[in-house]
Amino acid sequence: MISKTDDLTSAVKETARRFGAALVGVAPVERFDPMPPVNDRVPEGHHPRDFLPTARSVVSIAQPILDPVLDAPARLARRKLPMVPENVKYPYWDLVYNITGHAVQDRMLEFIGQAVGQFLMTLGYEAMIFPTTGVHPRIEGMTTPEAFRESPFKYTYGPFSHRHAATRAGLGEFGYCNVVLTRQFGPRQRFNSIVTDADLTPDPLVTEPICLRDACALCLKACFMHAITLRTDPDVRDHRSLDEDDHTRIFIDTPSKSVPSQCMRRRQEHPTSPVRGDCIRVCPVPKVRPDLPDHLQEMIGEWQAV
Ligand code: SF4
Repeated sequence: MISKTDDLTSAVKETARRFGAALVGVAPVERFDPMPPVNDRVPEGHHPRDFLPTARSVVSIAQPILDPVLDAPARLARRKLPMVPENVKYPYWDLVYNITGHAVQDRMLEFIGQAVGQFLMTLGYEAMIFPTTGVHPRIEGMTTPEAFRESPFKYTYGPFSHRHAATRAGLGEFGYCNVVLTRQFGPRQRFNSIVTDADLTPDPLVTEPICLRDACALCLKACFMHAITLRTDPDVRDHRSLDEDDHTRIFIDTPSKSVPSQCMRRRQEHPTSPVRGDCIRVCPVPKVRPDLPDHLQEMIGEWQAV
């Protein structure tokens, strides 16, 4: 039997899809309470109820990064091209990727959030929407890490974790790369979320692992800045560390930590380093990509030979 809740959920999902969402899932707000086995607690100020005290559901939406958008700039940056001077080629291809693989999805997901929010509003519900990425206020005389030194992450972040919402809405699970993997696109997508007081039909959580875990670990190898570590790494302790972690579990909460400021320093410290994104470019989920730059092809070749 189709209930009113099911009808509303279908209409909300249809609205998100009509405006460009490729994936849509629903999480009841209770899934943001600490869940075993890790029992990660949402940091204060980041829970759906912090934004809407009457929140009942969170809608998670995603758009893919198109495969060539991720792969082509990385490959082309390795070539000598007459139209792109050698001294600017890495920043040039970094920017091409940032526009087509980040900015486009970031803005579109925000528009989709507004469209879904308006739709809910016309039916008498409340909805809160979010920026897709971290918010980076400019504080005069300070770098971003200096300004956020007192924060546990030591860097700016978004007001709401769309990755945690995505796993709770059944769209995927975290990978070792600290990015959410879906069956459809692996780690190649971006997420946003809408918090609402509407009761919507929840989607089931993922029940089978998507990340290949220790049988792969290519993302950890590909990150030449060593910005990603597993939460059990005794050398990197902070409030998110774990002494033990069961990697047979589904990663509703992340098994790893990443240091964004370290990742951001890559071009400064290694001017000829690969175009941003090798940690997700190398991921063999949902399939190994055929057009990767040589250094990643080699890495995958060695992995396949084992
Ligand atoms: S590269 Fe391998 S270990 Fe890393 S997220 Fe992808 S599947 Fe998981």
